[in-house]
Amino acid sequence: MNPLIRLIPPAFVRFFARPYVAGDSLAKALEVAGRLHAERGLASTLDLLAEDIREQETVQRNIATYLAMIDAVAADSRFGGELEKPSLSLKLSSYTTAPLDKGGDAAGAKESVLRIVDRAREKGVRLTIDMESRHWTDFTIRLLEELHAAGQHHVGGVFQTRLHRTAADLARLPQGLRVRLVIGIYDEPESVAVRDKREMKERLLAAARSLLERGHYVEFATHDEAIVRRFLAEVVAPLGVAKDRFEVQMLYGVPRERLLAELRREGIRARLYVPFALGWPMAIAYLRRRLDEYPKMMFLVMRNVFSKG
Ligand SMILES: Cc1cc2nc3c(=O)[nH]c(=O)nc-3n(C[C@H](O)[C@H](O)[C@H](O)COP(=O)(O)OP(=O)(O)OC[C@H]3O[C@@H](n4cnc5c(N)ncnc54)[C@H](O)[C@@H]3O)c2cc1C
Repeated sequence: MNPLIRLIPPAFVRFFARPYVAGDSLAKALEVAGRLHAERGLASTLDLLAEDIREQETVQRNIATYLAMIDAVAADSRFGGELEKPSLSLKLSSYTTAPLDKGGDAAGAKESVLRIVDRAREKGVRLTIDMESRHWTDFTIRLLEELHAAGQHHVGGVFQTRLHRTAADLARLPQGLRVRLVIGIYDEPESVAVRDKREMKERLLAAARSLLERGHYVEFATHDEAIVRRFLAEVVAPLGVAKDRFEVQMLYGVPRERLLAELRREGIRARLYVPFALGWPMAIAYLRRRLDEYPKMMFLVMRNVFSKG
């Protein structure tokens, strides 16, 4: 990690984290999800900030937390139907001490996630497996395909349009798999990804079009207002796609109030990705890693803190 980022005092990192992290417990995350739903008609997907796992106890804690999240969401009567209820997002790297991006073999990740998948199915809670760096792509897609083939249709996946392989991956997807489309957050080399954001976003639109044409439920995840509008005008409208076949997603804390209110008026579902931690030290460690990967974020947060969106 960049030594300068390591030196930023925890209180300062926490200041940056605040708008993005729902709190330091599951109860606080659910409180935020409840408020978003009641006050702004927004759905949520809850995520435990848990990466860079070094010990088996942390893997066990992550499994236990997701099982508790499923039970809590299933028991919460504030939300309406299945699509309005919070879904859960998870990262495969949270379930192994041997991550693929560090040369490991992801030992235990699949078995752990299967326990979570089974419980979620039993309780009627939807799960989305986040997509991590290119080292995880094959492993993650294989798992998604296996789960879908085994009838676990409550599990969706994420595809990154910056990767050259994505159009081919999407073309092979099993019928009906729910897909979140993103440009991708990991800084991948030119050999595997485009580096031009405009190109990534054109690909986002093209991928959304082809998935909707093939009957997939599409979660269009971006904060780029112009691209969201183009998605609605150039993809959804000409295809005549019903409003229960797609949604728009953004991260909790990124100020897009105007756009989100507009979507609500038009009856278009929007869902916020709501991360929470188990204690602030965990959230601060997460934010430090994010800042290390993407220092520009500090300026974005600053701008967001002082603008209304
Ligand atoms: C719901 C959701 C789930 C995601 N899941 C994944 C995943 O599983 N795997 C993965 O690789 N990526 C994931 N991402 C991240 C995604 O790939 C992009 O990196 C991220 O959304 C930024 O790209 P953008 O399309 O918003 O466009 P950008 O051009 O990067 O952003 C558009 C504008 O939004 C603002 N903005 C964007 N991001 C932030 C931010 N974090 N904080 C403050 N302002 C910001 C900026 O001001 C920018 O001008 C997810 C994103 C969302 C919204």
